[in-house]
Amino acid sequence: MNVAYLSIGSNIGDRLSYLKEAVRILNADDDISVSAVSSIYETAPVGFTEQADFLNIVCRIETKLDASSLLAVCQDIEKELGRVREVRWGPRTVDLDILLYNNENIEMKNLTIPHPRMQERAFVLIPLLEIAPMVIHPVSKKPFSEEAAVHDDGVSLWKKVGVEQFI
Ligand code: ATP
Ligand code: CA
Ligand code: CA
Repeated sequence: MNVAYLSIGSNIGDRLSYLKEAVRILNADDDISVSAVSSIYETAPVGFTEQADFLNIVCRIETKLDASSLLAVCQDIEKELGRVREVRWGPRTVDLDILLYNNENIEMKNLTIPHPRMQERAFVLIPLLEIAPMVIHPVSKKPFSEEAAVHDDGVSLWKKVGVEQFI
């Protein structure tokens, strides 16, 4: 079985429902089991800043799928939940990114793991470290807890929820 960490964010409409639906659909897949979900964090947008605040979570899954198939499942969920691709880093109903897949370093045309921008994103690192405090970067071997971005402002606890409230 493979272990992966996913980042899920939403900043349009009923953000909490989109996060919950995304986790529920993931867990309903025969080849995916969601084993942990972080608290929900609220985050000011980065990149394209003229948009609403995000809700973000990180979840841990166990899966039989290889990384490419997992990306396809994530993209299907984005489609199902009505994401329309317009502005890069712009508003979206839901965005699912694969952060880590086992300890692998994957560099394909449409998939890079570890996610190339995760070290600089507090909205990724803070929820990730909540559920996986000891996790290290598979290439640099540096603990994510040592990244400066962990201490960034702009990420606040929005709601503490248990995995059972998602699935
Ligand atoms: P960012 O990647 O900076 O978080 P984004 O999530 O807004 O930006 P998207 O438009 O959702 O970007 O995705 C662009 C492309 O990134 C996707 O089509 C996908 O093929 C590719 N991609 C590469 N690595 C990953 C990964 N680890 N997880 C998800 N998508 C990835
Ligand atoms: Ca993203
Ligand atoms: Ca994405």
